[in-house]
Amino acid sequence: MQTLQRTFSIIKPDAVSKGATGDILHMMQEKGFRIIGMRMLEITKQQAEGFYAVHCERPFFESLTNFMSSGPIVVLALEKENAIADLRKLMGATNPANAEAGTIRKKWADSIERNSVHGSDADDTARFELSYFFAGYELCK
Ligand code: AMP
Repeated sequence: MQTLQRTFSIIKPDAVSKGATGDILHMMQEKGFRIIGMRMLEITKQQAEGFYAVHCERPFFESLTNFMSSGPIVVLALEKENAIADLRKLMGATNPANAEAGTIRKKWADSIERNSVHGSDADDTARFELSYFFAGYELCK
C-alpha cells in the first residue's frame, strides 16, 4: 500500500516571467498532485544561498543563486502518493535537452540552469525544503 507523501516545488523565475505558472500548476494537478501550500514571492540572494547550501561548492552556485533571486518565484507544497519520485518524473531531466516529451522542462525550460522547476529529490530534503518556506500551520489538511 502506498502512503501519501509531501514534496516541495518551486516554479522558477524563468517560468514565472514567461507566464507559465498556470500551465505548470495544471500539469501538476492533472497528474494528481494536491496543492496544500502555495505562495508567490521574491527571495534575496542570501535566502537562495541558504536554500541551495548543499551546492555551495559547485561551480554553478553563484550563477544559480543570482538567477533564483532575480525575480518572482512560486513555492509549492504538494501531496500525492509517491509524490517525490512522481514530481521528478513530471519535471523531466535537469538538462532540458535530455527531458522527455510530456515533461514540464521539455515544454518550458530554457537551459540546465533556467530549467523552470525545482522538486525535492528525497524525503529528508523535502522536509528541509518545505520547512524553509512554509510553517506547518500554513499547509492545508
Ligand atoms: P537540483 O538540486 O538537482 O535541482 O540542482 C539545483 C539546480 O542547479 C538545478 O535545477 C539547475 O537549475 C542548477 N544546475 C544543476 N546542474 C547545473 C549545471 N551543470 N550548470 C548550471 N546549473 C546547474
